[in-house]
Amino acid sequence: PRVCVVGSGPAGFYTAQHILKVPRWDLAAGRAGTCPPREASLPCLALSRFWGSLVGSWPCSSQNVINTFTQTAHSERCAYYGNVTVGRDVTVPELRQAYHAVVLSYGAEDNRVLGIPGENLPGVYSARAFVGWYNGLPENQDLKPDLSCETALILGHGNVALDIARILLSPLQLLRKTDITDSSLAALACSKVKRVWLVGRRGPLQVAFTIKELREMINLPGARAVLDPADFTGLESAVKDASRPRKRLTELMIKTALEKPVEMQAAAAGAAAPREWGLKFQRSPQEVLPSADGRRARGIRMALTRLEGSGDSAKAIPTGDVEELECGLVLSSIGYRSLPLDPAVPFDSQRGVIPNSSGRVEGVPGLYCSGWVKRGPTGVIITTMNDSFDTAQSLLEDLQGGVLDISPSREGFGLVESILHSRGVRPVSFSDWEKIDAAEVARGKAAGKPREKIVDPAEMLRIIGH
Ligand code: NAP
Repeated sequence: PRVCVVGSGPAGFYTAQHILKVPRWDLAAGRAGTCPPREASLPCLALSRFWGSLVGSWPCSSQNVINTFTQTAHSERCAYYGNVTVGRDVTVPELRQAYHAVVLSYGAEDNRVLGIPGENLPGVYSARAFVGWYNGLPENQDLKPDLSCETALILGHGNVALDIARILLSPLQLLRKTDITDSSLAALACSKVKRVWLVGRRGPLQVAFTIKELREMINLPGARAVLDPADFTGLESAVKDASRPRKRLTELMIKTALEKPVEMQAAAAGAAAPREWGLKFQRSPQEVLPSADGRRARGIRMALTRLEGSGDSAKAIPTGDVEELECGLVLSSIGYRSLPLDPAVPFDSQRGVIPNSSGRVEGVPGLYCSGWVKRGPTGVIITTMNDSFDTAQSLLEDLQGGVLDISPSREGFGLVESILHSRGVRPVSFSDWEKIDAAEVARGKAAGKPREKIVDPAEMLRIIGH
């Protein structure tokens, strides 16, 4: 059987990894009679946009994840092809002609929009573009965010919001040891931002970030957490019956709000922490306020909310009161959104997912999905791992149970290659990516960084001799 995985982010790699765990003879045994063991093989193909998220969105701490994916890419039963945009360079029906099964794992490349006045003013950025900018994604290199103000406001209480707050407030010497690009380092070195508010429309029990990311923020050197103890009154008992992760997360917020931070003691001794950050709750963005000349953002008006219901499903209802907050930088970090890929693939635009059951795309046998496009842009990498294993398992069951018909032979990448060739598209291989990886690591070494990312696609192509 030949399987194609579209997307080379965590979902695509975990799906491929799980499929490849099954030895080829086991698969063949499941199809005894139609598929003699020695002829059965499982080439698994990951077609991706420019390296997918192999560059850019993986933090240095994910090195073991990268190692696992590299192992998968090196499997003799797996081939990687990058620089291919499915839906444009090759269609999903064409892929389905070439393979027995196709798995869509292309993630969420759009972001939710606020839909409020002033959202497009200079000084307002989407979190996605901002993260892409400091992570070296080619398409975000022109962002050049204006960091000349003292107060930044991040809308949303998710992990991306915390990531951005950390980047904005990290001491330069820490940032220098990461793989964020040289140009963003230079911009952050001149940044005047010293206060970051993270604003959520619901309460502390509904925050979407997770404990590890919050702890990293709390422990950030030189940045003081400003949490209002009043926001956490009575929460200890309210969280008693919550899930363990929610309980631990809430306890950490309460502890941080109540304890006098070390920096506060330092402040008392006359050496204030230079930077601070805080969480604001039950405030829903209403309008980004323009400066007097109307040329940029100067603040934000927020509707105060009360919560209706409890737990995860509590709804934020405006009370009628509003509050204005001055800030020169607004980052909208309210979540990502998947886009439809091909008219031949069903898509639920309301939920932003491909309708599926355990990864089997509804109404299209032989088509599967995993990751954010399957369940929405939620959860941490382990969630994506489990979700991708679940899809791979469905596919393997369909193979072994004979639901997937593998009797007609499929050409696999040979067919795709000729289609791409006729359209002037030149895919890149995993060893091509490794050449770029090596060049980035070598450049980084000189600067004492894990890597210096190459942000110009033309330069990447030059390195691999395309
Ligand atoms: P997210 O976790 O979905 O958080 C979005 C936040 O925006 C929520 O607080 C949400 O509040 C708020 N929001 C949504 N619509 C809003 C609106 N119209 N007005 C005001 N607030 C609104 O999204 P994310 O932070 O972009 O993260 C995306 C995914 O990547 C998550 O699964 C995250 O865990 C993952 N991620 C993980 C890591 C990591 O593992 N280290 C790092 C980065 C990202 P409500 O709850 O009220 O809707």
